[in-house]
Amino acid sequence: MTTVVKQLSVETLRSSLRGELILPGDEGYESARKVHNGMIDRHPRLIVRPVNVRDVISAVNFARENELTLAVRGGSHSVPGFGVCDDGLVIDLSHMKGVRVDPKNRTVRAEGGCTWGDVDHVTHAFGLAVPGGIISTTGIGGLTLGGGIGYLARKYGLSCDNLISADVVTADGRFLTASAEENADLFWALRGGSGNFGVVTSFEFRAHPVSTVFAGAILYPLEQSRDALRMYRDFMAQAPEDVNAFFAYLIVPPGPPFPEHLHNKTVCGVVTCYLGPMDKAEGAIRPLREFGPPLFELLGPMPFPMLQSMFDALLAPGLQQYWKADFLNDLNDGAIDANVKYGPGVPTFNTAVHIYPVSGAVHRVGKTETAFSYRDANFAEVMAAVYPDPADTPKNKAWVQDFFSALHPYSAGGAYVNFMDDEGEDRVAASYRDNYAMLAQMKRKYDPTNLFHMNQNIKPAR
Ligand SMILES: Cc1cc2nc3c(=O)[nH]c(=O)nc-3n(C[C@H](O)[C@H](O)[C@H](O)COP(=O)(O)OP(=O)(O)OC[C@H]3O[C@@H](n4cnc5c(N)ncnc54)[C@H](O)[C@@H]3O)c2cc1C
Repeated sequence: MTTVVKQLSVETLRSSLRGELILPGDEGYESARKVHNGMIDRHPRLIVRPVNVRDVISAVNFARENELTLAVRGGSHSVPGFGVCDDGLVIDLSHMKGVRVDPKNRTVRAEGGCTWGDVDHVTHAFGLAVPGGIISTTGIGGLTLGGGIGYLARKYGLSCDNLISADVVTADGRFLTASAEENADLFWALRGGSGNFGVVTSFEFRAHPVSTVFAGAILYPLEQSRDALRMYRDFMAQAPEDVNAFFAYLIVPPGPPFPEHLHNKTVCGVVTCYLGPMDKAEGAIRPLREFGPPLFELLGPMPFPMLQSMFDALLAPGLQQYWKADFLNDLNDGAIDANVKYGPGVPTFNTAVHIYPVSGAVHRVGKTETAFSYRDANFAEVMAAVYPDPADTPKNKAWVQDFFSALHPYSAGGAYVNFMDDEGEDRVAASYRDNYAMLAQMKRKYDPTNLFHMNQNIKPAR
């Protein structure tokens, strides 16, 4: 790696940009180097905030020609902090937020720096939604490229399953469009292969008629969590695809709308979202409401973007975050035992132990049809310690690691790459299974020098 980037070439880069170039010492550098996870403290040498494709091409070429480490940032939510590097160049896409809806064809074109909130804000005006995650501040970039699990997944598939095409700047500075018809191998790799193949400047998605949903949370006593997990497993096995629900261990936040006697109490529960006709909603989720009986319910019809942003405040930027994850084929007795033992240890009300369904439409895509491989899993579990005080890191890491060690033997083997920590090549390979060899070939074709390595990295095949 070059240690001195000549001042002259930096000025050449600056003059080639319409967007910002931020250097150490510049006003705004300190906030520009921050990502969502407050634990990440890296100092890049240059931060480029492109406003168009030409800026992205200039920044990619500059990083490659100067042999700089390159980090690409969409919504900055990568928990291992892949959106920022030490000493290198960051391409921060957060100024590229254009969204265009084609209501007639139900498609959406969104630039690479959008968050799901940016997209939902526009699509909702047309009574449409694209499958995203469950938090509105997460970037469409990282989430889609790693797969994308959210409330609409059972009915409409993962975010990557709804990708029609992507505009990509590759490591050699070329601009390519990837779709089923054009550069189809790249299109395959982008749908799950994470940020390994280039900078996606624009995503074209299929959108679906989703506007008002029946949704919310149902809380159960902690002492009943074993039976609640069994009930949840059995319920999801037969639930129609209009129903989505994830299971959680949580500490009840100390404030409205929760009743005072539940404040700061550790409980378990489900967050559900029903997409069918409103008059069928109560019947569709009845088993979730009859179990217990619940300690508390907050359920009702709401605009989809309201549901999408309901938990944003709990996961505010700057909190410390340490996550681990696994796919589960089944919520078998061993997996339930691990959850019952460690779930109650959630350290803060920001922390999430979530079990998401991976079923319905997600299963209708073949294992090798996209880079995302775990189409036969039924759940994706994440243990996400989220807490304000860095001094609590050792105990929170220990809790996540112990939880993971207890669960992993009962898992499907690999994890959802967007929920994983930075765990090395073997773990990445385990998460792509049979698709890994093809991904490594694609990496050799599109990024032979591994310029894009700040990600769940796939090494180019030799
Ligand atoms: C609070 C929170 C909630 C979450 N909720 C969900 C959820 O409900 N469902 C779910 O599936 N996941 C969820 N995740 C995980 C999330 O999918 C990943 O953290 C994802 O990587 C975030 O994408 P980003 O663009 O915000 O992150 P970034 O840190 O900006 O990027 C993450 C990775 O993607 C690459 N990347 C980002 N944008 C682009 C682009 N345009 N072109 C090329 N590469 C790019 C980056 O280089 C990096 O390697 C959540 C994460 C957090 C922190």
